[in-house]
Amino acid sequence: MHPIQAPDETWRRPAPPPALALVQDFVNTNDAEDPYNDLLRTPDLLKAWLVDRELIREDDVVSQHDVIRARTVREGLRELAARNNGGGSDPGAVAALNQLAADIPLSASFRTGGEWELTPGEPGVTGALGSILARVVAAMDAGLWSRVKTCRRDTCRWLFYDHSRNRSGTWCSMAVCGNRTKAETYRRRHVARGPA
Ligand SMILES: [Zn+2]
Repeated sequence: MHPIQAPDETWRRPAPPPALALVQDFVNTNDAEDPYNDLLRTPDLLKAWLVDRELIREDDVVSQHDVIRARTVREGLRELAARNNGGGSDPGAVAALNQLAADIPLSASFRTGGEWELTPGEPGVTGALGSILARVVAAMDAGLWSRVKTCRRDTCRWLFYDHSRNRSGTWCSMAVCGNRTKAETYRRRHVARGPA
């Protein structure tokens, strides 16, 4: 018998393939409500994050321009994931991602049995961003990307993996964002209607 698990507990787990969990962690490096709470806000912080995950080497150079590029990739992916959740309102974020991706080389290799792999064609931050984009492409190819969603609550926008059987998850956590959103909607309607 399987242990009974509340849907919320399931949704909070990271995406099952580790390759996609890293993408989820990357997009969740900032807090929509607090611009100073951003793990990629300086070259040193970005470097530490990428070195920790073995995406770059300790002696790779990370510039302020790399910070801008990393944030562009992050917000483009967040917008794509918002579209998986009936949202998405910033086509400019995807255009900026595509413009940046055009300068990130990836090379394809094939094996018998239909397996394929995209690997970054450059070292350093360009390669690290390429690795993140390659993971997204692989997830799309495997039919997993549609489960990666941006939380619908405006003040959250956390990336979560929707484990629900019918892919109906809307909030990163029903207990936190789901219930708060419902309470806010209720309050708005109540105020709009005015006192009885
Ligand atoms: Zn949320």
